[in-house]
Amino acid sequence: MSEPRLLPCPFCGSTLVQLSGAGPGHTGDMDAFVECLACETEGPLFNGPEQRIDEAADAWNSALRPPPTDPEETPGTERKTQ
Ligand SMILES: [Zn+2]
Repeated sequence: MSEPRLLPCPFCGSTLVQLSGAGPGHTGDMDAFVECLACETEGPLFNGPEQRIDEAADAWNSALRPPPTDPEETPGTERKTQ
């Protein structure tokens, strides 16, 4: 079994991210989610009779991306006139 590729944490930029999961619990379902070991962010939880690690990884890689910052709006780049 090959694990899906995970992007760095969208919040702290750490690559210490891993797929976690629990189960099967008393319901027989298994949990799967991605977590950042550096800032303890957890991605969306996927729950089902099979461990949905691909979906958990996909959600981490896509849904948690922060909005792109505009490179034009960099403060402190005022031009001085002499
Ligand atoms: Zn993080």
